[in-house]
Amino acid sequence: MKSDSPYEPVIGLEVHAQLATRSKIFCGCSTTFGADPNSHACPVCLGLPGALPVLNREAVEFAIRLILAVGGQVSERSVFARKNYFYPDLPKGYQISQFDVPIGQGGSVEFVCDLHSAHKVQVGLIRIHLEEDAGKSLHNEDPADDSTLVDVNRCGVPLLEIVSKPEIRSPRDASLYLQQMHQILQYLGICTGNMEEGALRCDANVSIRPAGSTVLGTRTELKNMNSFRAVERALSVEIGRQTELVRDGQLIRQETMLWDEKSQTVHPMRSKEESSDYRYFPDPDLLPLQISSSWVDSVRASLPELPMARAARLAAQYGIPDYDASVLTETRELADYYEQTVAVFTDGKKASNWIMTEVLRILKEKSIGISSFPVRPEHLGQLLATVSDGTISGTAAKTVFEQMVVTGKSPKDIVTEGGFAQISDGTMLGHLVDRVLDENQDQVATYRSGNQRVLAFFVGQVMKNSKGKANPQRISELLKERLDRS
Ligand SMILES: [Zn+2]
Repeated sequence: MKSDSPYEPVIGLEVHAQLATRSKIFCGCSTTFGADPNSHACPVCLGLPGALPVLNREAVEFAIRLILAVGGQVSERSVFARKNYFYPDLPKGYQISQFDVPIGQGGSVEFVCDLHSAHKVQVGLIRIHLEEDAGKSLHNEDPADDSTLVDVNRCGVPLLEIVSKPEIRSPRDASLYLQQMHQILQYLGICTGNMEEGALRCDANVSIRPAGSTVLGTRTELKNMNSFRAVERALSVEIGRQTELVRDGQLIRQETMLWDEKSQTVHPMRSKEESSDYRYFPDPDLLPLQISSSWVDSVRASLPELPMARAARLAAQYGIPDYDASVLTETRELADYYEQTVAVFTDGKKASNWIMTEVLRILKEKSIGISSFPVRPEHLGQLLATVSDGTISGTAAKTVFEQMVVTGKSPKDIVTEGGFAQISDGTMLGHLVDRVLDENQDQVATYRSGNQRVLAFFVGQVMKNSKGKANPQRISELLKERLDRS
C-alpha cells in the first residue's frame, strides 16, 4: 500500500487459534462452545492440589500440521512452562504454555496482496507454540451492580500461538495475513476459525519509524480486535495516534492499547509486562514433549493441498482467471464443490461463473455455507450441460435452478415435470414464426427495405408466444429463411 506519510508502520501479529479438539489440552473436559457456565471443569483444569495434567495427543498433532503447512521446523523436544500471573479467570494462578523451547519455529505465510494482481507478500514466522486458554470474566455493565462473573469452561482449551516477525507494513496487509492464516487453519481442519466465538484471536505489536529507517521505534500492543475489519481499522487508528505523537515531538509509551469497536478508538489498558514478570519455569508435572521424525513424516503425508496452491492449480487446470480461483478456494468445501461440478460439466469458466454468481448469491441470502447447500454439485453440472446442449435455454435454466434449490431434485426431473425443454422442432417453430410475420407486416417491409435490426424484434415476439421455450437460435434461422426468400 502506498502512503504519503513520512513514517512507516512496523507490525507483527500474535494469533491465537483454538484447536478443534473435542477435549481440553490436559484433561478430558469438553471444549464445546456455549455450554452452561462452569459446567466443563475438573480438578485438572482448575489446578486443584494433586491433580495431574495429561497431554492431548491430537492437540500436538494439530500443531505439527500447521508447523509443516507453513514450512516451519518441528522441535524434536519442546518444553511446557508455567506462566505465572494472577487473574480471577485463571484459578490455577498460572497458565501452561511454552517459553524458551516452543514446538515450532520459523516458516512463513504468503498471501496475494490484491486479488486482481499477482503481487505476493511473504511474512516470516518467529515461533508457534502450544498453550492452554484461560477462563472468561464477564463484567456486569449495570452501574448499580458492578460485579464480575467468572466462567472457567475455557480454562485448558488448547491454543496455538503463532507469532509473526514484525514484517507487516500496512493495516491492510495485517488483515490479509490474518485471513490467509484463517484459511490455512480451516483447510487443515484444526480450527473452526469462528472469530465471534473467539476461536481465532489476534493481538498486534505496532510501531512506526521514519520511512527507510532500519531502527525499530517503541511499540505498543493492540488487543481486542474481533474481526478482520477490526484489525485493519484498529491498526490504522493506532498508527495515526503514534504518528501524531511523534510529529508533536512526544514519546510513545510502551503500553497495551485496547480497541473499542463501538467508538472506533483505542485506549491504554495497562503498562506492558516484561516476560520476567511471569517467572516462567518448566512445568514439573509435564515431561518434555518428544516428537519422533516418523510421526512428523506421517503428518506430512496427510496434509491437504493448501489454499494458495489449490488456487494456482484450479486456474491452470480449468483455465479460469486467478480472481475466480481465489474466490472458489476461499474454503476447502467450496473448492471441492467446484471440482465436483467440473467433473460433470467440463467448461471450467462457465461452471465458475455460475457458482460465483448464482450459488454464492443464494448462500449469502440464506446465510449458509456450501456444505448446507441443497443442490448437489453433480446436479449443477447436469444443469449446465442441458443449457450447453440446447435442451433448455439460459433463461429457463435460472428457473430450473431455483426449483432445484427448493426441492433438491435433479435438473432432469424438473425439466421433464415442468416442461422446460426448448422447442427445437422445425414444424412447431415454423408455425410460431409464420404467425408473427403475418401479424407484423409493417416490420417485414422494414426488414426487406434493408433494416435488418428488426430481426431481434421478431425473435422476441416468437420467444414471447412460446413462453420462453423456443430455441432462439433456430427461430433466428427460420426467420431469415422466410424473410430473405422473396
Ligand atoms: Zn478439566
